[in-house]
Amino acid sequence: MITRSATLAALLLCVAFGLSPALGAGPDNISRIASAPSGPLALWTPDQLAEPRNAAQAKAERSIRQLAAPDNNAPARLAPVEPLPTLPEARHGVIRRVLLSSGDKRVALTFDLCERSVHVTGYDARLVDALRAANAKATFFAGGKWLRSHPERGMQLMADRRFELGNHAWTHANMAVAPAEFRKWQLDWTSAQYELLRDELNRRLAARGMAASNLGPFNLFRLPFGRGGAEVTRFLNGQGFAVIQWDVVGEGGTGNAQARAQAIADAVRPGSIVLLHANAMPKDTAEVVRRLLPLLARKGYATATVSELLAAGRPEVVEDGYFTLPGDNRIYDDMFAGYGSGERRAAGRK
Ligand SMILES: [Zn+2]
Repeated sequence: MITRSATLAALLLCVAFGLSPALGAGPDNISRIASAPSGPLALWTPDQLAEPRNAAQAKAERSIRQLAAPDNNAPARLAPVEPLPTLPEARHGVIRRVLLSSGDKRVALTFDLCERSVHVTGYDARLVDALRAANAKATFFAGGKWLRSHPERGMQLMADRRFELGNHAWTHANMAVAPAEFRKWQLDWTSAQYELLRDELNRRLAARGMAASNLGPFNLFRLPFGRGGAEVTRFLNGQGFAVIQWDVVGEGGTGNAQARAQAIADAVRPGSIVLLHANAMPKDTAEVVRRLLPLLARKGYATATVSELLAAGRPEVVEDGYFTLPGDNRIYDDMFAGYGSGERRAAGRK
């Protein structure tokens, strides 16, 4: 069983310091992509998509780099160009899972790519390699600043038809404590950065005579620290975003990677949404995921993106985000300057 205290302790460490529980370094035997990439992914070679073969490069890509001063630089475009359609009433609220028709045993694996203003986080290529090797679907919630610091990996995720991306704020602002104006630019800058990468992806596809990527706008949002509230949800829904949380916390449990994978497999139900990270915080999520995928398959589960679950069923909604019990994430409200983002200028406006 994944305990609340262990989960919070692990997430706290990871978010605050970029440390990792790192329960044993994993074997380097996660399958690389066997077949030639297809569709927009063909812009890259299998080696460019996979974890770098050079061990030092692979390690560097997973490293968390603390910055000497917060990076408060704006993206090249400050607001998205493409408008979002009105969010249907049925998708209002904080979505924790999706109720599916009987017999539909799909679950959504979701991976956050958090990055605050005070550091540059990693990219866990081993994890993405494992997903691709199993042909698993996944949803990635990307911080806007993470997309800017990892443009090539961001575009590779966008180009993969098994995956979808959603918005995770620019620098991981805690929406429960940030003022309205702060929330708005955290949202807009991230959607704008996504559009810039999508433009670049489509430019490269056109240059190769390939069809455009057909990617829609960001319309899913994940609350940093899981913190929101009724007003925040109204704001996000009003902007056209469905707020996607989780019913299964996939990290922070006890035991080795196999035991923690088993705990996730035991916890999921049809329509579950599983919280994980793909920014190498914690370090051994790839090991857990590699073990989780066959366990899910053995129990008859298939993977789906969050959007696919939403299209197939009825969201189970709550009023506020939390990890496993309502209110268990309020500890984050006073933890970091700049409403959780680390931005020092913002603290003065508080
Ligand atoms: Zn996050």
